[in-house]
Amino acid sequence: MPIADPVSRLATHDSFMPFRVRLTQRLSRRRLLALGAAALLAPLIAPTRPAAHAAPAIDWPIPPPDARVGLQVGHWQIEQLPEDQERLRGQTGGSGGGYREVDINLTVGQRTAALLTAVGVAVDLLPATVPQGYLADAFVAIHCDASTSAGISGYKLARYRDSLIPARDDALIAALGDLYGPATGLRLDEGITRAMTGYYAYNARRYRTIISRKTPAVIMELGFLTHPGDRAVLVGQQELIAATLALGLLRFLIADRPARDEARWRTIDTSRFVP
Ligand SMILES: [Zn+2]
Repeated sequence: MPIADPVSRLATHDSFMPFRVRLTQRLSRRRLLALGAAALLAPLIAPTRPAAHAAPAIDWPIPPPDARVGLQVGHWQIEQLPEDQERLRGQTGGSGGGYREVDINLTVGQRTAALLTAVGVAVDLLPATVPQGYLADAFVAIHCDASTSAGISGYKLARYRDSLIPARDDALIAALGDLYGPATGLRLDEGITRAMTGYYAYNARRYRTIISRKTPAVIMELGFLTHPGDRAVLVGQQELIAATLALGLLRFLIADRPARDEARWRTIDTSRFVP
């Protein structure tokens, strides 16, 4: 399946022509990168072989044994947030072009979970409410952005600003971003907000119901539903998005394993000597 081309979609609307020219210039190098990522990921998402012969189309990396990943579906069942996060219960998420982000977050989360589960990773598909002290090898909060301006585009990745394991969080950000931008053609939006670096699911200063501070965690905004080009990818390329997230997570899990093991060893060692 070819990569969605937001530029050609925009080209059908004359009012977007000036923007289209700028976009074409800016994305030309990115397009080249996208071709590489597409070549890697295309066999994953192209339904070229019958389900009966569902051998892996590419060689997925083998995850470490006992790997566990939490995928949080942004805004899903947000009305059920616990008391300490009560004030957030009305944040039902953004929308654009008739699409709600919570629906896209859920589909992408489910598809990513299916891909990871198929290669042996234990996956928890989590709603807005996270299990207190949730411990896993990686946690990704899946969201989409919305803006009052249709010209704003791009994806974002961020971690907790007060993280105890910033290097591991950043490695997870890099693993996801290295694939996502080139594969989707979406630009990296570096306008990280305080709401992202202080996201409630890991904000230890503000809330009780948060994941374990030992779980590498990021929040990802997949793109802007209010931007026509971004929305074309978010709505029409969910299998590709899921494949990039799954592959990025697998690469992170493999690379992070020594750090994870060392962290666990330290915990055991400490508990042995500290009363
Ligand atoms: Zn959101």
